[in-house]
Amino acid sequence: FVGSNADFLKGVVAMNGLPGDDRIEVCFAGRSNVGKSSLINALTGRKGLARASNTPGRTQEINYFTLAESHYLVDLPGYGFANAPLPVIEKWQKLLKQYLSGRVSLRRAFVLIDSRHGVKTVDEEIMSLLDSSAVTFQVVMTKADKVKEKDREKIMEQVRKALAKHPAAFPEIVMTSSEKGWGLPTLRALI
Ligand code: GDP
Repeated sequence: FVGSNADFLKGVVAMNGLPGDDRIEVCFAGRSNVGKSSLINALTGRKGLARASNTPGRTQEINYFTLAESHYLVDLPGYGFANAPLPVIEKWQKLLKQYLSGRVSLRRAFVLIDSRHGVKTVDEEIMSLLDSSAVTFQVVMTKADKVKEKDREKIMEQVRKALAKHPAAFPEIVMTSSEKGWGLPTLRALI
């Protein structure tokens, strides 16, 4: 079902801006530059659907996309770039917490991890927030084409170790490359 029938719906800046909760919803989270926009575009087969998350003005929004008649795909802003003023960051963190703990139709979060870098401190923080919000999450490795096969296994081992500490984590890790199309059918099936 995830195909050309994906569309941008709206950017949300406050809980009262969320659309109705009558659709199944999955969200995508990840550090800035992890390859989130590229993955959403590749997944939906629509180049330019998700803009680079560091586009000024859009960074603090929860971006909603419709998938067919039944799902929402939710693009959470990239984290890890602390160049925003503190009040902006705090407002955003509050919205993120409210969203994760209060959104009944949210079925799963996909936490994107760069295959070259593995799990960083900010990734750990979002995973802990997902634990405490009781949102099950699954790790998606991005840019797998940029890493040699023998190095890939080392990173995967680090990710597995990190996941073992998080009760809300699915043990299965999805390996993807937006560039090569790797893992996209698997990810579509999971959604
Ligand atoms: P975002 O900030 O998380 O939305 O990241 P982008 O999707 O804008 O990607 C950041 C950079 O990584 C861009 O230069 C992309 O071209 C590159 N990139 C994203 N996905 C892949 C991939 O699967 N393979 C390779 N080689 N590069 C990628």
